[in-house]
Amino acid sequence: MLTNLNINPQRLWDSLMETAKFGGTVKGGIKRLTLSDEDKKVRDWFKAQCEALGCTVTVDEVGNMFAVRPGRNNELPPIAMGSHLDTQPTGGKFDGVLGVLGALEAMRTMHEQGYETNAPVEIVNWTNEEGSRYAPAMLASGVFAGVFTPQYAYERTDRDGVTFLDELERIGYRGVEKAGAHKFQAMFELHIEQGPILEDEKKMIGVVTGVQGMRWYEVTVTGQDAHTGATPMYLRKNALLGAARIIEAVDAVGQKHQPGVATVGLIENKPNSRNVVPGEVFFTIDLRHPDEEVLEVMEKEFRAALEDILPAMKLIYDEKRIWNSPAVKFAPELIECVEHGAEKAGFAMRKMVSGAGHDAAYIARVAPTTMIFVPCEGGLSHNEGESTSFDECAAGAQVLLNAVIEHDRRLA
Ligand SMILES: [Zn+2]
Repeated sequence: MLTNLNINPQRLWDSLMETAKFGGTVKGGIKRLTLSDEDKKVRDWFKAQCEALGCTVTVDEVGNMFAVRPGRNNELPPIAMGSHLDTQPTGGKFDGVLGVLGALEAMRTMHEQGYETNAPVEIVNWTNEEGSRYAPAMLASGVFAGVFTPQYAYERTDRDGVTFLDELERIGYRGVEKAGAHKFQAMFELHIEQGPILEDEKKMIGVVTGVQGMRWYEVTVTGQDAHTGATPMYLRKNALLGAARIIEAVDAVGQKHQPGVATVGLIENKPNSRNVVPGEVFFTIDLRHPDEEVLEVMEKEFRAALEDILPAMKLIYDEKRIWNSPAVKFAPELIECVEHGAEKAGFAMRKMVSGAGHDAAYIARVAPTTMIFVPCEGGLSHNEGESTSFDECAAGAQVLLNAVIEHDRRLA
């Protein structure tokens, strides 16, 4: 059995540059909206490349593509590697694309070396990760994970009123297989970090342990508008003062529960006049933490602060949680495979939690999943100037291959 498989960095880079032409922009980015003609072109290209390696390519009812390479034991569910080929309207060349083409490079390397895995190995291209043409983001991986129904996806419309279903059929990528019916035993998603940490710490690989949870709230504090000159201090119901004390309390919650973060980023003071005691204030709260239980505690503490501070000041308040995106913890055994894979290749790494959403966050609900991050210049993404170097792309694909092989060996 071969023990060292090395990906071909030039071949990977050439594929990145070749597919960047499908929707390429003058500023060097890509505009490849989901289910557009450009998306069809890159899908056709991807399918042909996988078939040339002896893979069988299937498509499910929401257009997710699966390219399977058989293993020794095809009773075992495949080991998946995947991300997305769609981009933002002014997207870069690496967001999502690196995850699919890095997987293709890993597959090509195994094929070229005649490396036989125990389980089948496959590449997945998830439909509409970006959500810029059809909101919400991560739509088809969400359908796959049972978060949305296929019908819900079909009915999404773009700005021109064209439905997801019409476009899916038009480009010929509405498959027959039920979304979610295609089983795999693990999924590894290689992705650019989209943040500044790896670059700042000069680390090549981010071993991603999860995706942080996020909760958004809206609060309205009501007191009473009153004349600043004629209303004595002891008779005031100052909504802005109440909000100020809550903002301090929210910050204290974040300080106490680091690496969690707590922010009031938007505030509207009424009537916002220099000689009126403010009678009403609206503000937002954004709480985030990698651990759902801690997030729960953070929520309790900020609500307790509302209860302690505001009624005592003769202020009333209204509070609503308007968004809840649960924290995701990736599979420890897969995280270990990534760590070993990076170690074996000799790359500096750090564990980290993703601040952004990814297909992997939904897939983690139905199968063991993890992610590998590589740096991107200045942390810049969703931008035509998005840049990940030749070496960084190669490092990511190598660690992806190493991790898949390690996981596969454990099946023997
Ligand atoms: Zn992405």
